[in-house]
Amino acid sequence: MSDNKTATYPEVRLRPGKDASLQRFHPWVFSGAIARLPKDLEEGDLVRVVTADGKVAGVGHYQIGSIAVRMLSFKDEVIDPDFYARRLEQALALRQTLGLAREDNNTYRLVHGEGDFLPGLVVDIYGHTAVLQAHSPGMHFARLDIAERLIELPGANIANVFYKSETTLPYKANLDPVDQYIVGHYDGSVSTENGLQFNIDWLKGQKTGFFVDQRDNRALLAGYARGRRVLNMFCYTGGFSVYALAGGATVVDSVDSSAKAIALTEANVTLNFGDNETRHRAFAQDAFKFLDNMEDGAYDLIVLDPPAFAKHRSAIPNALRGYQRLNAKAMAKAAPGTILFTFSCSQAVNREQFRLAVFSAAAQTGRRVRILHQLTQPADHPVNIYHPEGEYLKGLVLYIE
Ligand code: SAH
Repeated sequence: MSDNKTATYPEVRLRPGKDASLQRFHPWVFSGAIARLPKDLEEGDLVRVVTADGKVAGVGHYQIGSIAVRMLSFKDEVIDPDFYARRLEQALALRQTLGLAREDNNTYRLVHGEGDFLPGLVVDIYGHTAVLQAHSPGMHFARLDIAERLIELPGANIANVFYKSETTLPYKANLDPVDQYIVGHYDGSVSTENGLQFNIDWLKGQKTGFFVDQRDNRALLAGYARGRRVLNMFCYTGGFSVYALAGGATVVDSVDSSAKAIALTEANVTLNFGDNETRHRAFAQDAFKFLDNMEDGAYDLIVLDPPAFAKHRSAIPNALRGYQRLNAKAMAKAAPGTILFTFSCSQAVNREQFRLAVFSAAAQTGRRVRILHQLTQPADHPVNIYHPEGEYLKGLVLYIE
């Protein structure tokens, strides 16, 4: 097995004492930890990381920037197509353990970067199509090997691989990736999630086309929807709206500032409930304006799932003010007995900070507010315990009296 092979990758030598985080299996080597880089090293190259006293700490992908190496293995092993095949098999085995690959649920994340020991790689599965996304130059160069192994992956039934990395690779690397099928083609199939159907636009959509990470939270919402008037703010493809309708909501209003998102939402509602679903309305409007104009007590189940307000640490204070403002506007007008699902997907904002922002919103409105559930990302977005940075989705379900 290639496990026993050793490679002759260029060596990246660490400064003395800078191997402590690698001893704890943290998968990133920061540029400041590096004593010496080999000559002629190029972005995306495989490197062997060596401690100051000459021990091999593992193998990874090199890139220019503050994260200089993303570790693929803490052994001295060869990174070849078989290596990717083994990692993909392990990833699929976990999803099978989770019961996610089924006829009525063929939408799931197969590879979640560091959470599946493949830093820089995301793979989402929509039926027989895998959408492959590289976040590092190294994964960009490995894309064809990975695609080939995805097609061959036993039990996965993948026929098409769409590569979508135009917006996720560091632009300075000048790789000019093109979003395109690298295997197969569009097969016209519809994706299923918990028995519900979704058209996924991986060609032009955000992320890989769908927010797979809200599956469990959408299912939880469906259980609260019966008899309620629902506002799904920042609806994108209408995931929460479809679940709310399926759960027996009396009214569902979907809001998104993007007209494209509104069209996707309407198409998904039609796909599940037909043309004559009179319970649903959709509005292409700014969230803050919609909340300002909304009538007091108009809704008793509200979803706030905004885009990441903080993309970097420097944006945290503004982001927290944004979360407070948004939540306060919704809470102030929520009907008595409202269930509010409120989220932050900003990796830079931690759980306590988000909760404090929501607390501040509650205090500002003076409403009696209790926490019913504390939500996070689902199990197909696992957090590598050695890489806490992988935890990003935070949600609270509140009861507002
Ligand atoms: N809840 C969605 C994902 C939300 S993504 C799901 O489960 O799939 C965030 C969405 O917010 C995007 O569709 C984006 O178009 C929308 N958005 C961004 N800024 C907005 C604003 N100011 N008002 C309304 N929608 C906004």
